[in-house]
Amino acid sequence: MTYDLVIQNGTIITAEATYQADIGIRGERIAAIGEGLSGARVIDAAGRLVTPGAVDVHVHLSLNLGGGLVSSDDWFTGTRAAAFGGTTTIIDFVHPEADETLMQAYEQRRAEADPQTVIDYALHMALGPAQIPQLGLLPAVQKAAGITTYKLYMAYGYCLKDGELLQALEAIRDVGGLPVVHAENWDVITTLVNRRREAGLTEPRWFPRCRPALLEGEAAERLITLAEWVGLPVHIFHIGCREVVERVAAARARGLPVYGETCPQYLLLTEAAYETPGIQGALPVCAPPLRTEADQQVLWKALANDHLQLVTTDHCPFTMAQKARGLDDFSRIPGGVPSIEARFALLYTFGVRAGHFSPERWVDICCTTPARLHHLSRKGQIAVGFDADLVIFDPEKPARLSTDWLHENVDWTPYDGLDLRGWPVVTLQRGAVLAQDGQFYGQAGQGRYLARSV
Ligand SMILES: [Zn+2]
Repeated sequence: MTYDLVIQNGTIITAEATYQADIGIRGERIAAIGEGLSGARVIDAAGRLVTPGAVDVHVHLSLNLGGGLVSSDDWFTGTRAAAFGGTTTIIDFVHPEADETLMQAYEQRRAEADPQTVIDYALHMALGPAQIPQLGLLPAVQKAAGITTYKLYMAYGYCLKDGELLQALEAIRDVGGLPVVHAENWDVITTLVNRRREAGLTEPRWFPRCRPALLEGEAAERLITLAEWVGLPVHIFHIGCREVVERVAAARARGLPVYGETCPQYLLLTEAAYETPGIQGALPVCAPPLRTEADQQVLWKALANDHLQLVTTDHCPFTMAQKARGLDDFSRIPGGVPSIEARFALLYTFGVRAGHFSPERWVDICCTTPARLHHLSRKGQIAVGFDADLVIFDPEKPARLSTDWLHENVDWTPYDGLDLRGWPVVTLQRGAVLAQDGQFYGQAGQGRYLARSV
């Protein structure tokens, strides 16, 4: 029996095991895993690792903050950069306006994404205070749009008061969905921000001082308690501090379905970055803020021992000029850092090579658990019947990170000059080569929207 494409001689890494085998692909799916497979086309992966395509369930492409501020990667540049870095599926967001229905907002986001996206994608639906009257529509939205995950904010303009949070959690429970939550204590943050501004303390170094880790822990605890009482799983976004890790771990130890993610910026950068005067101190502004070296050690350990379950990017790039808008007032710096391209390789060098966890765990936290938790039924695994989304990863390939060659549409990276060993050399999506040896073979619009069900 011959296949359309065979990946030969590679070392397959899944969340469970590492082994030598060929992968036979027919059409868009994995059709066989075995020895001596033959195909119309063959890619030799000798000496390389073969992993599932990486899955990044937290990105912000073309995020419109209003006032002309839009995150600088659009659906084409962002998904192309993702493909170069081995990410073949993302989940972005629908942010409905107050006067829009959930379905109108969803259709508008599809209209932006569909013609541009290179890789497959799904969407979380954000539910703010203005959407509370529409909670009764969630079953219809799930059926029509295939949306099963919902973004809830305990911060910003979308910030839900506790009673609203309760109602949203109940509605999500009733459709069998998963809330993904930004957990911070917004009332305390705004109070501290105003106090600093009134005192003239407006440089970027004051930004983290308005978002204390202890209060982030309080918000996470409140969320976990509400979710326990309502009775549904919850995924806590972008965890960067011990205070939240401890609460996630304690909840899980009690058997609660609480899931925690962290991101490369929390694993690799610290709050010392904000102390640099001028634009350099403004660039790494993201929320929650970067924390301490001690927190980093807690995060690496938590990924290894399953106190945290996944790594996403929260990719939300703004250019130096966009960041400079807030130089004289840290509260006006658009928040977010880029890493959609380097996440998978960063976690290999600094996670696997540094000895924090195994190659299997690397695949689990970057590919398999994100896909499974977010109802992406044919993604994140190397198994017969799954989409042939695969990465051939050269574990020895050196890469010094630089905007000179990274494909993200932004003129800085917090990882400039960082030396990695290990980088994807081939990225396949549904059996087609998207990127190989630094060349791009995809095209705008070839990615598909993934309608999900629970
Ligand atoms: Zn985010």
